[in-house]
Order: sequence, then structure tokens, then C-alpha cells
Amino acid sequence: MTYQSPIAPGVSLYEDGLERPRYPALDGSCTADVAIVGGGFAGLQSACRLAENGVDVVLIEQARLGDGASGRNGGQMGTGQRSWPEDHAEKLGHAAAKALFDIAESGKRHLHDFAERHGIDIEYRPGQLSVVHKRRYLAAYRRHADRVAERYDYPHLRFMDAEETAERLGSRAYLGGVRDTGTGHINPLKLVVGTAIAASAAGARLHEDTRATDIARADGRVRITTPTGTITADRVLIAGNGYVGRLESQTAAHVMPIRSFIAATEPLGPQTDVLPGGEAVDDSRFVVRYFRKNAEGRLLFGGRETYSRDNPRDIAAPMRQQIARLYPQLSDVAVTHAWGGTVGITVPRDPFVREVMPGATAVGGFSGHGVVLANYTGKLYADAVLGDDSAFAQLAAMPVSAFPGGRSLRTPLLFAALTWFALRDRV
Ligand SMILES: Cc1cc2nc3c(=O)[nH]c(=O)nc-3n(C[C@H](O)[C@H](O)[C@H](O)COP(=O)(O)OP(=O)(O)OC[C@H]3O[C@@H](n4cnc5c(N)ncnc54)[C@H](O)[C@@H]3O)c2cc1C
Repeated sequence: MTYQSPIAPGVSLYEDGLERPRYPALDGSCTADVAIVGGGFAGLQSACRLAENGVDVVLIEQARLGDGASGRNGGQMGTGQRSWPEDHAEKLGHAAAKALFDIAESGKRHLHDFAERHGIDIEYRPGQLSVVHKRRYLAAYRRHADRVAERYDYPHLRFMDAEETAERLGSRAYLGGVRDTGTGHINPLKLVVGTAIAASAAGARLHEDTRATDIARADGRVRITTPTGTITADRVLIAGNGYVGRLESQTAAHVMPIRSFIAATEPLGPQTDVLPGGEAVDDSRFVVRYFRKNAEGRLLFGGRETYSRDNPRDIAAPMRQQIARLYPQLSDVAVTHAWGGTVGITVPRDPFVREVMPGATAVGGFSGHGVVLANYTGKLYADAVLGDDSAFAQLAAMPVSAFPGGRSLRTPLLFAALTWFALRDRV
């Protein structure tokens, strides 16, 4: 029988037919040096690095590893942080902006090295296009490409005019953009599964179907309560991201869960004019549309967002419409899979990294940019535990404010704000 995740709608293309090892639920109480809540990129990277360095580590995941955003996303390895470095420079100064950009670039290198070292086939395909849907954004994109080359030592971004953009997309729906040859896209669930296997082989104890219901200080350590036992640890990493709910109030106040959806078509065949160069694409809309062809030649198209916890009755239908508008030649192509996941976003779109109680640190809110950053933040947390917190401290120093409105008002307020921005996309 096909597995349907209890925390996310639809069966993803990635999980269909992929062998995923099962890890037992926690049974009874235990202790550890470090306990981790959340089996996505951040939690698993930390677990792996800590275990490889002889730290006794336990990780619990409420569903299956990768059932969160990490196993269900668009697979695009964005360059830099989610905000452009020139925007960071305005707020934080050039030195801090450059340091944050460089951390993200180290994250890219780490991801490739990690996959290679552990023999994980992440199906990497190079190339990324960021394309513009409104004429008035063109100048900013051109300036961005120049600045990133000049001031951030990143020579891989180049502005594309309308003609080149149309050729590379196989569609005239966009007016220009930038081409990034320094990054690409991957199969994210294969990375999750491979990281879990590596972590487990290194001695990390991984438990699926185990939900943390409480985290509190107890006898000078931190205690996690679950329905089937407690874990007492010197340190706890809360990597629950947009799924954390009421478990931890600071994460809940700073990381807003938003649903995003992806549809995958049948393989398009070798003759198609859609994305002939194989790049991944994201666009300039507030509700970003993101798409790519995978190694099999299927189009994976993401874009629709919802701000409530209710699942749409038909995920595929609106995605099919968006695909047909962009690529009329694909109007009759079958959509074989459609699924959703929860993106954790923050107000400034920078990651939320914070000690939330003595011994307990939360990470999350990678704002649609976590393929590189969530993995690397997990690695950097482990480095901090192992004694080098230089890079992790820089992430923790980013000013991230809470969403206004408190628990009861923030969702309706955000819904109103996001709906307004989504409307502006269409005008
Ligand atoms: C549809 C979609 C498309 C995306 N596309 C891209 C993209 O193309 N590029 C990009 O860079 N980023 C993308 N993202 C964002 C990216 O996937 C995330 O930033 C990243 O995966 C976050 O990793 P994480 O480890 O912080 O959290 P997650 O992967 O969300 O993992 C958190 C885990 O914690 C578990 N958890 C939460 N609470 C508890 C609890 N109480 N007890 C036990 N377990 C708990 C959850 O079940 C979940 O598995 C996308 C996200 C989505 C949903």
C-alpha cells in the first residue's frame, strides 16, 4: 500500500518507489549528549556530524524522516541567503552581508562534498534561472548580477535579455532574468535518506513516529517528553521548523508555516523545447513559481501557496493551469503526482537561529531557501557543539523579529498581507 504521510498532503514523486529504511519509534526513556527534534535536513545533518565525531545523539521525528519540507521540496540549491546580499548590506553593513553570503557558499560546497563522501546520488543537475515577470524589475536584476560579481566574488551570475530567457525557458512568458551557473538542483528525498543512513551508521539513534510533546529543563539538563518515553540530554536542537506547532513558543512566534505545492508531469521526452539546458527556474512573483526538469525529463512545477492547515481538495488542477499558461504545448501532458509541504518563513526571510532556553537551540525558517541552508545550519550547530561556533554565531546574530499579532492574530494578519502581495503579482 502507498504510504501517505500524516503531516503532508499527496504522495510525492520522490517517495514513489524509493526504498526508505524504517527507524523504530522510541520505546522507553533514555539519555544522550545531544537530542534532536525533527528529521529534516537540519536535524539529520547535525545528527550525522555529531555521531561521526563521537557524540552520543538521539533524533526523533514525528512522522517518517523527510516527511517535512526536506523530503518534499523543489530541490533548488539557491545561491546565497534568501535575501539578496545587497539588501543585507543595507541593513547589516557590507562585511556582515559578505560573511553571510560566504557562509551560504560554503554550504553549497559542503552539500556536494557530503553527498560525495557518503556516496549519495542526489541527482544533481547544474544551472538556475531567476526570471522576471514585470518589466520594472529588470533593472534591479541586472544590477544584482553585476553587484554579486563585483562585491561578493561570485562570477557565475549573468543577466539575460528577453530573447535568451525565452530560449532557455522554451516560453515567452518572462521578460528577462539572471542565469546562475554556480548552482543547480537535486532530488531532496535522496539526500534525506542518504543522510539518515550515514547518521545511523555513525551511531546516531534515529526514531520515527515519535512526537515531542514537551521540552523543559530538568535537573540541570533538558528533558524531551514523548508519548512513549522521555529523553534527557545536555543539549537539545529543536529543528521542527514550520511543523513545530505549540511545542516551542519562540519558534512558533518567529517561523510561520505556509503550505506550498508541487505537481510533476509524465516524462516530456527528448524532443521537448521546455528547458533545453536543464536549468531550474524561480520567478519574481511574491508567491514564487519554481520549476525544473528532473533527471527523467519530468517537469516539476511548484507555486501555489495556502496559509491555512486545510488541504486543498485537488492539488493538481491549479498547477495544471499554471503549467498550461506557461507552456501551452504541455496542456495535454499528464500530471502524475501532486503533493504539498510546509515552508517555514520568517519576517525578514532570514533563518531563525536562537537559544530558546539554556541548553536548547532552535533552528528553522529558511524561507524557501533551505536545501543548502538547512543542511548547512545543521552542520554548523554540530560544529558549535564540538567547540567551533564561529559561523553558527553569525547566523544566530541575524536580527529576526517575531510575526506581529501574537498567536491568535498573526495568521489572519499574515493571510491578509500575503493575499495582498499575491494579488499584486497578478496586476
Ligand atoms: C513544497 C516546498 C518546496 C520547496 N522548495 C525549495 C527549493 O526549491 N529550494 C530550497 O532551498 N528550499 C525549498 N523549500 C524549503 C526547504 O524544503 C526547507 O527550508 C528545508 O527543508 C527545511 O529543513 P528543516 O530541517 O529546517 O525542516 P523540515 O524539513 O521542515 O523538517 C522539520 C521536521 O521536524 C519534524 N517535527 C516538527 N515538530 C516535531 C515534534 N514535536 N516532534 C517530532 N518531530 C517534529 C517534522 O515532522 C519535520 O519532519 C521548499 C519547501 C516546500 C514545502
